[in-house]
Amino acid sequence: MYHSIAASAAPRFARFVVRPADFAAQMDHLAVEGYQPITALDLARKRAACDRLARPVVLTFDDAFTDFETVVMPILQKHRFPATLYVPTAYAGRTASWLHDCNEDQRPILSWRALRDIVSAGIEVASHSHTHPQLDRIPLPLVRDEVRRSRQILENNLGVPIEGFAYPFGYWNRNVRFSVSAAGYSYACAVGELPVSVTADLLTLPRLTVAAGVDVDGFAQLVASSSTPAARLSSEMKRWAWRAMRRHIRSVGRDPQPIQDHGDAAGAAESDREVFLRASEQNSAHVAARADDNLLEEGRTSRPVSDRL
Ligand SMILES: [Zn+2]
Repeated sequence: MYHSIAASAAPRFARFVVRPADFAAQMDHLAVEGYQPITALDLARKRAACDRLARPVVLTFDDAFTDFETVVMPILQKHRFPATLYVPTAYAGRTASWLHDCNEDQRPILSWRALRDIVSAGIEVASHSHTHPQLDRIPLPLVRDEVRRSRQILENNLGVPIEGFAYPFGYWNRNVRFSVSAAGYSYACAVGELPVSVTADLLTLPRLTVAAGVDVDGFAQLVASSSTPAARLSSEMKRWAWRAMRRHIRSVGRDPQPIQDHGDAAGAAESDREVFLRASEQNSAHVAARADDNLLEEGRTSRPVSDRL
């Protein structure tokens, strides 16, 4: 799992931004070692066929930053690698305003034109919700709206069926998972910091984060790792511990920033829902940042299972 591939980032966002030279070296490694990239949808739909591939790997990119088109695509095309891109639909053609507390709210998000070109180039484009909230902390009707609305907007703007979903921040619970299934998605990606096992739940597929600064050796170890029962248990325990910890982190609101709905004709009018979601997004980033600070202060090197965007 990647987010941004770029040369610079604000300090609080830096670990999610892989340098272009590192990314190019990682893709070279996959090619030289005979890995066979497939889309997440291929993995979900053709599990049996994928199992017959010698070294299948899925490259996913969350948040749809514009560097996917300018930096990632040329490198993927050099190797003819497919990939999957998850889009928070409210921000298409705008900026990542949910990253306000990371000082990255001006990082640009791909336009619908660019997303159509990316679909035409063979990349799977899928949903990353509409406004990138913490879905496990908002009322269920809003969860349902987030997952349904984003799928509808993607299908309307791209003209292709949308079958995949990636949980913002990797957060999900039973109701969120059920809402994603009920909205018609075939699969959904969490994080989990695990490779996918043959028994993995299609609606909470685990992923491994490729963090900034990972060299080729570290990347080689990451993609060669396997999913053991002990690793799966550890991941699940971390998820529960992290959820418990988040319940005790006070959310702090601030004056909401204007956000216009996008890609949706009815989106110009501000509603109570949008006001709620603005506050939710800002609180989400703040909660994540505070938790990160706590963990950094503790000197931990391994990140909690939900330390992601
Ligand atoms: Zn995200």
